[in-house]
Amino acid sequence: MPNRLSVSELSARLARCEVSARQAVQACLDQIQRLEPAIHAFISHLPADALEQADAADQLLAAGGDFARPLLGVPIATKDVIAVQGHPLNCGSKILGNFISPYDATAIAKLKAAGAIILGRLNMDEFAMGSSTENSAFGPTRNPWDTTRIPGGSSGGSAAAVAADEIIAALGSDTGGSVRQPAALCGCVGLKPTYGRVSRYGLVAYASSLDQIGTCTKTVRDAALLLEVIAGHDPRDSTSLPQAVPSYSTKLNGEIRGLKVGLPKEYLVGGLDPQVKAAVAAAVNKFEELGAEVIEVSLPHTDYAIASYYIIATAEASANLARFDGVRYGARVPGEDTLELYCRTRGRGFGAEVKRRIILGTYVLSGGYHDAYYLRAQKVRTLIRRDFLRAFEQVDALITPTTPTAAFKLGEKSGDPLQMYLEDIFTISCNLAGICGLVVPCGFASVTDAPPAARSMRLPIGLQLLGKPLGEETLLRLGHAYEQATPWHLEKPPL
Ligand code: GLN
Repeated sequence: MPNRLSVSELSARLARCEVSARQAVQACLDQIQRLEPAIHAFISHLPADALEQADAADQLLAAGGDFARPLLGVPIATKDVIAVQGHPLNCGSKILGNFISPYDATAIAKLKAAGAIILGRLNMDEFAMGSSTENSAFGPTRNPWDTTRIPGGSSGGSAAAVAADEIIAALGSDTGGSVRQPAALCGCVGLKPTYGRVSRYGLVAYASSLDQIGTCTKTVRDAALLLEVIAGHDPRDSTSLPQAVPSYSTKLNGEIRGLKVGLPKEYLVGGLDPQVKAAVAAAVNKFEELGAEVIEVSLPHTDYAIASYYIIATAEASANLARFDGVRYGARVPGEDTLELYCRTRGRGFGAEVKRRIILGTYVLSGGYHDAYYLRAQKVRTLIRRDFLRAFEQVDALITPTTPTAAFKLGEKSGDPLQMYLEDIFTISCNLAGICGLVVPCGFASVTDAPPAARSMRLPIGLQLLGKPLGEETLLRLGHAYEQATPWHLEKPPL
């Protein structure tokens, strides 16, 4: 079935006319219809529009294809926080009402120009705030490996849809781990590019100094293929970087001899699950076998990452989310006067976690507290970035766990925000430092307390590789070599 293929496999078969774009889209639609009642990865999708795009792609493919369109006929879906012209845009929230995007995000425009078919929109924690997709106003997404468990978040829909073969690949956004953590928990490859590598134009802002669009895919090669399409400078996003975009996918030759990889000692302590620890240790051995040199390094300010992240991210969110006031767009709950209209719209439109963060963010920015919290957090952020830059003087990349445990149960942490925030302990520093990160499957945890009705007794574990600013090429080479030497990415959930 074409929906089970990766981007590189599908595009090769499309080019040889062994499968048509219509068949590929139809196979995804069939899988969506079959599995959505159990998984709920999509918020919306437009089948007729996707089939129409597929027919147009098939005409070009029949005429010999188009070298300028490497993704011609490949169905892709996006997290509900990235604008696609003519599609609804909800950000997993009620507050946008029936809003339809009037334009394409730059990343989407680039995917379309490369021939991809944008099939639909994937579920997420409201405004990307969360680690389990339970904060979606559209209801939670479930993990394809065990539907009693969360898929991770906030891009839980992206990871679940890719893992369940409902879509070939997906876009997500990563502010503190939202692409990498769900990718790890669903057994996919997740890439968070360097801050500024991919334009954020058309990505609804959560925390602007941390946000970055990333990819969720079935293989490392697919991550490289998508990144080389969506990356690059964009005059519409002044934070996008001007550096030329390498042809990442052509550099994946499996050769990593001589590369130096650092193992941060602060990442292998605390509440790390023994099975996750063992999987990471085995991966370290594998890298050594492949010819990389692994040495211990130190990131001494790691302990302060969560605290500073939740000050900076909420501060920025409180400002960014001020635009959702019921006046300009989205849902509106009328009131006696403008203030009442604001209060009612925001009171009813936002969910509990978003309100918690707006309140926290407003507090840390308020007169008298700004210096004590916000300014201090910014100073800590600088120290965290320096830790990484110092480590990268010694090594080409870092190797770490992605999550403290495998996927947890729905409802297990949703009543305790602090427990949920601790889920981000290994992913958050990457965003604070503005560097890049790649997650690849590295094994499975066996579940001892699985009820007889649970679908799987094993849950995926993800390995995180962190790279220098603009070090994506090295990360992808390392991830690809590891992937080719291990069987983990070939496993599919028992659906
Ligand atoms: N879990 C983190 C948060 O809730 C990260 C989310 C993200 O990367 N968008 O903020």
